[in-house]
Amino acid sequence: MTSGAGIYFDGITSARHDVAVVLGATGLHIAGPGGRLLAQWPYNEIESLTAPDNVLRLGRRNNAVLERLEIIDHAFAAEIDARAAHIDRTGTLQRRQRASVIGWSVAATVSLLLTAYFGVPALAEKLAPLVPAAIDRKLGDAVDMQVRGILDIGKSGAAFECGTADAEKPGRAAFDKMVRRLEQAAGLPAPLRSFVVRRTEANALALPGGQVYVFRGLIEKADTADEVAGVIAHEIGHVAHRDGTKAVLQAGGLSFLFGMLLGDFVGGGAVVIAAKTVLQSSYSREAESAADAYGAELMRKAGGNARALASMLGKIGGATEPGMKILLDHPETKARIAAINKVASARTTTPFLDAGEWAALKRICAG
Ligand SMILES: [Zn+2]
Repeated sequence: MTSGAGIYFDGITSARHDVAVVLGATGLHIAGPGGRLLAQWPYNEIESLTAPDNVLRLGRRNNAVLERLEIIDHAFAAEIDARAAHIDRTGTLQRRQRASVIGWSVAATVSLLLTAYFGVPALAEKLAPLVPAAIDRKLGDAVDMQVRGILDIGKSGAAFECGTADAEKPGRAAFDKMVRRLEQAAGLPAPLRSFVVRRTEANALALPGGQVYVFRGLIEKADTADEVAGVIAHEIGHVAHRDGTKAVLQAGGLSFLFGMLLGDFVGGGAVVIAAKTVLQSSYSREAESAADAYGAELMRKAGGNARALASMLGKIGGATEPGMKILLDHPETKARIAAINKVASARTTTPFLDAGEWAALKRICAG
């Protein structure tokens, strides 16, 4: 007997799924209607949970969600029992799940109280700077996965990230050199993770956790390396101000706050909503001005020409695609340019790249 019927709860919704359970070589395969695989549980991760006498109720160790599987057929239950020799009957899982439920309830109550008091936007503003770097990074990774799913149209089969093919490597080296110089001047608390992606819009994007995407369209539109550096400096401003984290906290709202408090947001619907919001909405005028001021100052600190950020803004202001208002598409472009030029110093600056390196960077998406 290598298969039988079971009842499966995914731990996220309360729906009960009638499933077919197949005993594989190393674990259980749980399939829904039409044979769609819902879960795979290795035998050594299965734990039994307390249940009425006539039911074998199983859970999965080290799993954050309250997923469970119930087997009613005695003979089939005995088969599973025999294979999952490591089934832990000490109740560790159940204690952990109980703690998790209590954690969620406390988090929910705290969040509701805080939200009632401050409102979500103000709360996000206050909370974002308090998010530990490790959680910010994890959050960034979760959002990054979604954002890639939306942005990576996978045309021509080339990698979403430019700079990996042999012909693109000199471009990647030039890009890294430029980012390193800015990063050293910035002195951020956590390392940046920046790369060029195969998108034709003249745009760039900062995500939580210090991730900066520069679209290839921006590099194509730039006339100097310093113009690209200026935009990266502006993005580093968003990273330093935790604007990505704030946007995600606002978009995801309460469910995100729960996830944050429990350190688990991967796979939650809130991440999907948050990623879409990050891509579709602009930052506030205040956040943009602050990132401009930071970017101009960072360019100056790094010995570069802050006016390059202003000239790049002038080139791309209002030119981005609708629905992709990530950062630079703002009606107040003229005012922004004037503000940046005001703080740009008149002293001599050092270009970020020489002519050869700049030519290489122009070809970073060539492969
Ligand atoms: Zn911006």
